[in-house]
Amino acid sequence: MIPYGKQNISEEDIKAVVTVLRSDFITQGPTLPRFEKAISDHVGAAHCIAVNSATSALHIAMLSLDVGPGDTVWTTPITFVATANAALYCGADVDFVDICSSTFNMDMAALEAKLKTAEAEGRLPKVVAPVHLTGRSCDMKALDILRKKYGFRVVEDASHAIGAQYGGQFVGSCPYSDLCVFSFHPVKIITTGEGGAITTNDPALARKLASFRSHGITRDPVEMESNDGPWYYEQQELGFNYRMTELQAALGLSQMSRLDAFVARRRKLAERYDRLLSGSDILRPVLDSDENQSSWHLYVMRLAEGSTPLARRHLFEKLRSHGIGVNVHYIPVTRQPYYRALGFDPLQFPVAEAYYDRSISLPLYFDMTEREQDTVVKCLLEPAGYQTIF
Ligand SMILES: *Cc1c(COP(=O)(O)O)cnc(C)c1O
Repeated sequence: MIPYGKQNISEEDIKAVVTVLRSDFITQGPTLPRFEKAISDHVGAAHCIAVNSATSALHIAMLSLDVGPGDTVWTTPITFVATANAALYCGADVDFVDICSSTFNMDMAALEAKLKTAEAEGRLPKVVAPVHLTGRSCDMKALDILRKKYGFRVVEDASHAIGAQYGGQFVGSCPYSDLCVFSFHPVKIITTGEGGAITTNDPALARKLASFRSHGITRDPVEMESNDGPWYYEQQELGFNYRMTELQAALGLSQMSRLDAFVARRRKLAERYDRLLSGSDILRPVLDSDENQSSWHLYVMRLAEGSTPLARRHLFEKLRSHGIGVNVHYIPVTRQPYYRALGFDPLQFPVAEAYYDRSISLPLYFDMTEREQDTVVKCLLEPAGYQTIF
């Protein structure tokens, strides 16, 4: 089976984890701050807080911006459910903005139109959470203009996008956002098994995130209301145990040293898909420019305009039956029974629906060989499959 995504674990990674296992600290030790510093240095952010998943990261990112009952968070329907769920964890409402028909990221024109209506009705969102789908950044400059005009906060869901660049800067440097969230699940660009991190340039938000990560407890005498002695700590708000272990941090730190290589290889494979599929009627994702470089978490192809959901299903099943681990990213959140029960109707988001009906994520990972890629392309293009379906 050729999987759609797969981690790369080196001997150095294994050694790094074993070293931690033999050390005094397997959690709450010195490796976590080193991992966090490696991330903030690489992306160019002032602060990084690593946690046990991107889902936890999204949750405390929302909490640190005081998202709660009566507030609304907007994201797009084409994301993993965790982006929207984070708002619900805080007791806030969630709403969606349709995607753009060329990048499949949040459509800034649709966002602007929705903001105008919301302003007139007095229900502007507190937070907008753009998702850098497949590792390609959203149009953050357009979002920034709207952020300033309408006064919302921005949490980037960059789960796909560590190592990506926008406007010549790394995603996570937060020039147009309050907070940026990364995921280290094994299918993502780097991995810690499970894990996530948040970057920010705001020291007050960084302090809040560190507190939420560990029970809302502080041991810093400067922050405490009283001090009974050296054993003393204070819980000052309701936090969680969202900590990342030293084992995970050691793996992540070791992986960070290969981030550039991971992204470069993925880009090379993406460009090769582009070449191999050009001339067919398969629609390919846009390639990188100098300023805007995807981390190429996913390579999403689409069937030609006008092809049916059934054609996608046939092609998907054919690829799977040939041992090719294709996938679909994503089923619109608005289609999920839980969200339908909240009153969402997928028909409200026609671009997301059209994208969903015709897209397939092809295998793409660091260790993928050109031979494996040729196998995928051959199966995709062979006449008995794709062309005869419609
Ligand atoms: C993977 C992913 C998440 C959740 O990440 P975890 O680390 O698994 O919690 C959230 N949003 C998006 C867009 C993702 O791809």
